[in-house]
Amino acid sequence: MLAAEADVLVRGAGPVGCAAAAALRDAGFKVEVMEAQAAPPGFRPIALSQGSRLILERLGAWQGLQATPIESIEVSQAGGFGRTRFDAADAGVPALGYVTDYGILTENFRFLVRELLTSESLPARCTVHAEGIADAQEKRYAQHALVALVHSEPPAQHTAFERFTGEGPLALLPFAGRHALVWTLPPERAQRLAACPEKEFLDALATAAGRRAGAPVKVEMRTVHPLVLRVRRTRIAPRAVYIGNAAQTLHPVAGQGLNLGLRDAWDLAQALRGATEPGEAAVLEAYAASRRLDAAAAIRVTDLLARGFMGSSRVARAARGAALTALDLLPAPRRFFARRMMFGPSALP
Ligand SMILES: Cc1cc2nc3c(=O)[nH]c(=O)nc-3n(C[C@H](O)[C@H](O)[C@H](O)COP(=O)(O)OP(=O)(O)OC[C@H]3O[C@@H](n4cnc5c(N)ncnc54)[C@H](O)[C@@H]3O)c2cc1C
Repeated sequence: MLAAEADVLVRGAGPVGCAAAAALRDAGFKVEVMEAQAAPPGFRPIALSQGSRLILERLGAWQGLQATPIESIEVSQAGGFGRTRFDAADAGVPALGYVTDYGILTENFRFLVRELLTSESLPARCTVHAEGIADAQEKRYAQHALVALVHSEPPAQHTAFERFTGEGPLALLPFAGRHALVWTLPPERAQRLAACPEKEFLDALATAAGRRAGAPVKVEMRTVHPLVLRVRRTRIAPRAVYIGNAAQTLHPVAGQGLNLGLRDAWDLAQALRGATEPGEAAVLEAYAASRRLDAAAAIRVTDLLARGFMGSSRVARAARGAALTALDLLPAPRRFFARRMMFGPSALP
């Protein structure tokens, strides 16, 4: 190894790149991190799973993080029967997940790895790509995500509301006494609602969201995000590995992208721990094989939810109603679903 050579160069100081850098440093590697942009973007809600909390705790990134616990999730559909509710007790955990802000989380992580950040492109024995963009064929959903911070009356507590509408799924997540809104809509309607007068926006939201989450009274920080699915054919290359959104970019409907990416980062550090050569093909191949099942399951579930829970036809509504009723009536599948969303397959009992 050359004197100035790092064991691992992480490209991208988003949450996944930072998590990988911290975990690899803790595993004893000399790590450098390169980031193209100084400041993370503005408000974007992130629902962290219980499994992600455990990873953040182990890395020292949980302490001091502003995150609101979700104690229950209510799933329903507009204009149809069927509703189900997941409680933390269903899964035997104190919270089903935690809502934070992407910018806050990223700043927290960057602080944790501040001594590893570099602006020079250094030689390294292994490169971890965490640039957040999967170099792969793109499947575009006919939807954009409209994101905003909504004040409701009464104020948000600890329940998340997921509602399937004919236009796409809508989530209201509790965050610091307000609701973080992620509303998937046809592109023109998303753009229109992002720019329209506040009253028009609040009326449209009240109609789509129903009454269970309270009445929306104020909205801030509206932004629009196009939604795509991009999955790299392979997550390794010679002396290189792709993690997080650089390996797979998912529709945010089930809040799985970052949770999956954090598991990528954690498992990478465990796979490399003890390896004398971090870029060795056999080590990277074993890592890639170990991530296949988790990634494939998250991609399938997310794609199914994004496609299957759209559509306003009678048949689509009946199918959604039946699925929700089944989940409501059958505790075992509900518990399975809740744990799968919180931990991924590897941590299932
Ligand atoms: C509206 C919306 C809501 C979402 N909600 C959730 C949710 O509730 N739960 C969840 O788990 N996921 C959610 N996601 C997905 C989640 O945001 C992503 O999965 C997550 O941000 C991926 O993290 P990452 O670090 O891999 O990539 P990114 O967050 O994209 O970070 C990549 C970093 O790499 C940097 N970079 C880019 N190019 C270069 C380069 N050439 N050199 C160096 N640095 C570079 C970028 O500046 C950036 O800092 C949501 C996504 C959207 C759009």
